[in-house]
Amino acid sequence: MNFADLGLAEPILRAVREQGYETPTPIQAQAIPAVLQGGDLMAGAQTGTGKTAGFTLPLLHRLSQGKPARDSRGRLAVRALILTPTRELAAQVEESVRAYGKYLPLTSMVMFGGVGMQPQIDRLRKGVDILVATPGRLLDHHQQGTLDLSHIELLVLDEADRMLDMGFIHDIKKVLAVLPVKKQSLLFSATFSDDIKALADRLLDQPALIEV
Ligand code: AMP
Repeated sequence: MNFADLGLAEPILRAVREQGYETPTPIQAQAIPAVLQGGDLMAGAQTGTGKTAGFTLPLLHRLSQGKPARDSRGRLAVRALILTPTRELAAQVEESVRAYGKYLPLTSMVMFGGVGMQPQIDRLRKGVDILVATPGRLLDHHQQGTLDLSHIELLVLDEADRMLDMGFIHDIKKVLAVLPVKKQSLLFSATFSDDIKALADRLLDQPALIEV
């Protein structure tokens, strides 16, 4: 199995080559084609399996095949939302998005709490395609009217089990309630408790199931 066989666009393959990756990891070999097909996905994967590229690469591909979204003021609107439990993970994931997307005309931003709102508001105003965020700060922006989530095409819940363990279930439900119904949703979790299964039932529509 080769990255070039997975159906990813050339600018993404070029960025992957620059990372020095030779072959897809098992989660990547399964998740990338599944996400490219456009359906929902439930994936069981631990950290260290290459899961980040497993959702980031096909997410970049799908966004690159579509059109930029504009809000009512004509500003670039967020099309993909990646939720993570911690700031550290959010920052890491956004770095991956930037590295793998460096040859695509897509922009990304990381957003988490514990830092000022204003720089984040200023960054949002400039236009963002891909937002990587922790749930609490995301809701703060949405409630203040500084973030439009009505153009989301793709949602990723990364380390969903950790998000639930950290007590984010109410925040996640609030986020889901304001997202468009029609979207592609991906749920990544290391474990599958009843709570995760309930969340998956609520969010995912006939998901492909992958476990590595
Ligand atoms: P993750 O599980 O997403 O946190 O990734 C774990 C590490 O594996 C990261 O440092 C990645 O840069 C690296 N990695 C991801 N995919 C590959 C690959 N196909 N070949 C080699 N290394 C990879």
